[in-house]
Amino acid sequence: MLRVAVVGGGPSGSCAAEVLAKAGIQTWLFERKLDNAKPCGGAIPLCMVEEFDLPESIIDRKVRNMKMISPSNREVDIHLGNQDEYIGMCRREVMDGFLRDRAASLGTTLINGLVQSIDTGKNRQGPYTLKYADYSAGGPTGDICTLEVDLIIGADGANSRVAKAMDAGDYNMAIAFQERIRLPKEEMSYYEDLAEMYVGTDVSPDFYGWVFPKYDHVAVGTGTMQKNQALIKGLQKGVRARASDRLLDGEVIKVEAHPIPEHPRPRRVVGRMALVGDAAGYVTKSSGEGIYFAAKSGRMCAEQVVAASANGSTIPTEKDLKVYIKKWDRQYGATYKVLEILQNIFYRNDAAREAFVEMCDDKDVQRLTFDSYLYKRVVMMNPWQQIKLTLLTLGSVLRGHALAPQGYRPVPSAVKTDEQMAAWRAQQLSDGDALAGPGSNPAAAAVVSANGRPAAGTPTAANDQNVREPALASKP
Ligand SMILES: Cc1cc2nc3c(=O)[nH]c(=O)nc-3n(C[C@H](O)[C@H](O)[C@H](O)COP(=O)(O)OP(=O)(O)OC[C@H]3O[C@@H](n4cnc5c(N)ncnc54)[C@H](O)[C@@H]3O)c2cc1C
Repeated sequence: MLRVAVVGGGPSGSCAAEVLAKAGIQTWLFERKLDNAKPCGGAIPLCMVEEFDLPESIIDRKVRNMKMISPSNREVDIHLGNQDEYIGMCRREVMDGFLRDRAASLGTTLINGLVQSIDTGKNRQGPYTLKYADYSAGGPTGDICTLEVDLIIGADGANSRVAKAMDAGDYNMAIAFQERIRLPKEEMSYYEDLAEMYVGTDVSPDFYGWVFPKYDHVAVGTGTMQKNQALIKGLQKGVRARASDRLLDGEVIKVEAHPIPEHPRPRRVVGRMALVGDAAGYVTKSSGEGIYFAAKSGRMCAEQVVAASANGSTIPTEKDLKVYIKKWDRQYGATYKVLEILQNIFYRNDAAREAFVEMCDDKDVQRLTFDSYLYKRVVMMNPWQQIKLTLLTLGSVLRGHALAPQGYRPVPSAVKTDEQMAAWRAQQLSDGDALAGPGSNPAAAAVVSANGRPAAGTPTAANDQNVREPALASKP
């Protein structure tokens, strides 16, 4: 009888374990921290709700409005007119807990334990012995235990120990940084069903900054490729500075950072060990989306194990497991490629980013983008749409140079008038003069023009104080 260990209880691991358990295969799911809140924007496409049978209680907010904000602060509104359509915003601690518990209720043995090392047997062919610290008794260090299995699914994220044990090879990693900010009622109501995306060199040289609504706060973050990792905190200040008038009186309740894989690992199956989700490297470029692809790859890999083992009666071979990789690449290879090309074209410089935002104003572009995101399907364009899109791209790219700004300034408040903002600033300055000494304005330091000079409209000291940093902010 086949014995399978799934290491990692995020979406990829739980969705793999669920399929295995349903097929009657003996399955252990290891999660080092059962209340883990994975640093994540938590945005999921609509199709995931149905495909993975997610209950409404998982979705904190249904986003139907999206604002794309260019380097010059051009704001393009994208609205999902159909009330049945939305982008789901989740808290990962809630979603991951639900998926894990569901896998356990179907027969998975859930172990609250950290897998520390794996003996992979001769030529990495198994059987495999996992050494882990079992935390179920509640102690801080856990009890050291071992378990022997015939097959391992590595769902243990970007710093995967399974990947190391199987010598899967490295991938480049981007870094993402996020602050959870609690806003006063009025500011929060503006983000009720709205997400914002900021682009510009100030917020990221190769990605975007975001403000996503959560249960009772917003998640504000940015990401950048590994080579720019040292810039990440300055880029986060850039997002905060640009959104400062919308994050008025916000309180940072959590600070988090985590790596994001930039491409798949060189080897995703070795012996009877297979990688899924972030451990395999399945996050898309441009959008940084990984939750759906994690869940889907966990499911696809497990389905292959069930089929190749005839519901657990035999042990699949390496060749059997590699069928999952072939199917995956066939189904999603083009999606990854297209998003990589888009990133290379449109996140190149501020002129290209202006062009990108301008293009998003077109209804056909919006429909194509949303259909491919919400439903994960390739949408065919009619010839007229193709011609129009090509002309639009060329026109926008040419115009982008004229539109790109010399520097960056905050977007205006969405809920307060200019007079209210002026009064608020005056009040802040009189209250905070003693605090605002030289160099006490990190947001202003981040908001510089492309040539390094302070930008026109650089936020004032008052802007910088818009968001309070509390003592409880946990540093990454
Ligand atoms: C800041 C940020 C924002 C993001 N925003 C979005 C977004 O809005 N939408 C989106 O689709 N994607 C987003 N992503 C990407 C998304 O978070 C990942 O792609 C997704 O979490 C991958 O799921 P996973 O199950 O493969 O891995 P993970 O979610 O990383 O889960 C791995 C699990 O394994 C456990 N684990 C690790 N090692 C061990 C071990 N040795 N033993 C036992 N357990 C172990 C961990 O505790 C964890 O629970 C974001 C990423 C970041 C960093």
